[in-house]
Amino acid sequence: MAKPGSRHHRVLIVGGGAAGLTVAHLLLRLQPQLDLALLEPSADHYYQPGWTLVGGGLCSLEQTRRDQASLIPKGCLWIQAAATEFKPAQNQLLISTGETLSYDVLIIATGLRCRWEQIKGLPQALGSHGICSNYSPQYASYSWETIRNFQGGTAIFTVPETAIKCGGAPQKVMYMADDYFKAKSGVGVNTEVLFCTAGSTMFAVPAYGRVMAQLALRRGIKLLLRHKLIEVLAEQQLAVFEVSDQAGNVSRKEFGFDMLHVVPPMTAPDVVANSPLASAEAGGWVDVDKFSTQHRRYANVFALGDVASLPTAKTAGSARAAAPVTAANVLAFLGGQPLLAQYDGYSVCPIISGYGRVVMAEFDYSKQPVSSFLVDPTKERWSMWLLKTRLLPWLYWQRMLKGLPHEGRYLKPLAPLVHWLRLDYRANPQDLEPQAETSEGCS
Ligand SMILES: Cc1cc2nc3c(=O)[nH]c(=O)nc-3n(C[C@H](O)[C@H](O)[C@H](O)COP(=O)(O)OP(=O)(O)OC[C@H]3O[C@@H](n4cnc5c(N)ncnc54)[C@H](O)[C@@H]3O)c2cc1C
Repeated sequence: MAKPGSRHHRVLIVGGGAAGLTVAHLLLRLQPQLDLALLEPSADHYYQPGWTLVGGGLCSLEQTRRDQASLIPKGCLWIQAAATEFKPAQNQLLISTGETLSYDVLIIATGLRCRWEQIKGLPQALGSHGICSNYSPQYASYSWETIRNFQGGTAIFTVPETAIKCGGAPQKVMYMADDYFKAKSGVGVNTEVLFCTAGSTMFAVPAYGRVMAQLALRRGIKLLLRHKLIEVLAEQQLAVFEVSDQAGNVSRKEFGFDMLHVVPPMTAPDVVANSPLASAEAGGWVDVDKFSTQHRRYANVFALGDVASLPTAKTAGSARAAAPVTAANVLAFLGGQPLLAQYDGYSVCPIISGYGRVVMAEFDYSKQPVSSFLVDPTKERWSMWLLKTRLLPWLYWQRMLKGLPHEGRYLKPLAPLVHWLRLDYRANPQDLEPQAETSEGCS
């Protein structure tokens, strides 16, 4: 790791996760001499989509980890510290070493923060009494331990009311668990699986929401909408929910459980949420233009990834699609040129619907299904399972994090032919109704 030298950088990226690293590589590919620094406190980088595979017993946590040092592009100064205060009016920020950094352009990519503490009793309870979560590297392997040791009873899978990263992940673990319970003799028949979401749909994109609700009901899973987990009583194995009806009346309900997979509420990290970069109007996220990814008040600030207010799902797939736009617009801004690159809100959420099956949910700001593979994306497919479990991890490490383009571009020129042959997906007319914009992710 290089020591922080210059206190001023032409471009400063805050956060070296999926979004920050991708944009760092892209910037240096486009302008190798750029004075670029990356602020990232952690020595470990995790492929977070892999935590679903850890929780499903398909790989170890260590297989989802790399040394951060091995991923920083050559020519980029790594400052191993955290941002502690943003002062965008002065083009400055304070960092955990006590130093002040200044910049010409700032890119915010800090990701989000899981708010375990917002559910009473949860922080102490996680990792015991069948209470697990794939959203924590510490507890993802306990999900698999809980599934494997499950002897029947009630298994509950929750979704909070806030935006979350990868809105499909709370379902993925549930379908794998349900498959496992049904395959294990005597367990499936004695088991009730409950999907308790604080929201009112299974997925924010209606076409996928309907498909997933049908799949869940066909499996005999009980869907409980507007059920918000507020408390966990570990010893008694009780989960307490705040339940609201459509008229807005709120009541309290308790469920006993034998397994409880919790997805916590999520917000921007405090240092971002309490800064002038975030706004209430942008839901507490960094307030950027949804097409250019440029800040709406500070022209030399850009944001992408989970922390940005972009009204699409918070996934590594959307960070991959937004990064070339941010990189191009940052360089245009530095060169005094107009910002021409535009992000269309593309996001992808490979929803594992059982061992060996995936619904590759792709969509954009229009909230309509799209497919990079020129097939109906609302169908469960084994080919997409192979893609999710084998190819996507490789693409993440070897292509995305190196700033290399997505292979989907090779298929794009074939699209007119596929349309002409009518082999591609056509949305149902009701799916084409305009949807209200939301930054709720795909929960
Ligand atoms: C269980 C699970 C399953 C998922 N499945 C999928 C999937 O199938 N497909 C998909 O596309 N996405 C999936 N995701 C979502 C995906 O991992 C995230 O959307 C993606 O990692 C977001 O990238 P990011 O760079 O914005 O944030 P992160 O990758 O979280 O990186 C943020 C970085 O910022 C750093 N940071 C934080 N605060 C500061 C600070 N103050 N100063 C400096 N640095 C800071 C952190 O240390 C971190 O390295 C999944 C996530 C989870 C948890």
